[in-house]
Amino acid sequence: CDNMCSFCVVPYTRGRERSRDSHSIVNEAAELFNNGYREVTLLGQNVDSYKWENEITGEKVNFAELLEKVALLNPELRVRFSTSHPKDITDEVLYTMSKHENICNYIHLPAQSGNTRVLEIMNRTYTRDWYMERVDAIRRILGDECGISSDMIAGFCTETEEEHQDTISLMDYVKYDFSYMFMYSERPGTYAAKKFKDDIPEAIKKRRLQEIIQKQKELSWQRNQLDLNKIHKVLIEGISKKSEEQLQGRNSANKVIVFPRESFKPGQYVNVLVTDCTSATLIGRAVEEQEITI
Ligand code: SF4
Repeated sequence: CDNMCSFCVVPYTRGRERSRDSHSIVNEAAELFNNGYREVTLLGQNVDSYKWENEITGEKVNFAELLEKVALLNPELRVRFSTSHPKDITDEVLYTMSKHENICNYIHLPAQSGNTRVLEIMNRTYTRDWYMERVDAIRRILGDECGISSDMIAGFCTETEEEHQDTISLMDYVKYDFSYMFMYSERPGTYAAKKFKDDIPEAIKKRRLQEIIQKQKELSWQRNQLDLNKIHKVLIEGISKKSEEQLQGRNSANKVIVFPRESFKPGQYVNVLVTDCTSATLIGRAVEEQEITI
């Protein structure tokens, strides 16, 4: 990763960003598909800044173009990607997603904080307004159904109560489907460890984290309610964790859906009518598309 977020060790442990030859990525995805795989994830610390150039021919491929090349391999191959940095995700990527049904309608867009001053000392290189504008672009181009998730840090150095509330209000604005939520803990060798005092008492960090978790629970529940009584195309992943009689898979927005096993098998696509939900899981039954009119 070429970014230097002040809390993060990745740039020290993993080194500088490299963009792999696009042909090797497309070939690898094609081989996986031919071997029976039905989902690939283009993975990088910061996939949106992918930029490959062939020094001899001058051929250039950016992330939106790479995404499209992989999506065009076969409509039965689902394509996901992670992680997007809010400063780098472009409208071109969003339009490419909207063009191909097999590029999953889901974006992991870590905010880390909802407050511009905190984002600045985290060295995230975007502001709250910039982040909100990117979310507006996602909603405009990909609609409300696009799943969005985040990473959030509670109690970063010097974070005030008002700044913590900005994180909560950003969550309300975006309506995340889910989030990975942590209390700040200092990582040796990072800029924050060297330059900032880890000055928020543990009890306050814990309480702020609890508020973030509680907010996310409410939002996940609300978001899952919107999926009720709709048919979702599910790629079956395997037996449900809770019952041998149930299968589980994911819809395009990366939500886990559980439904009766019948004679379906992992790796198949199935249309599932969602009839119930918890804040973590959608529950339904397989249907023929024409069986239901919504
Ligand atoms: Fe890079 Fe992500 Fe670490 Fe920031 S948090 S330095 S973007 S890996």
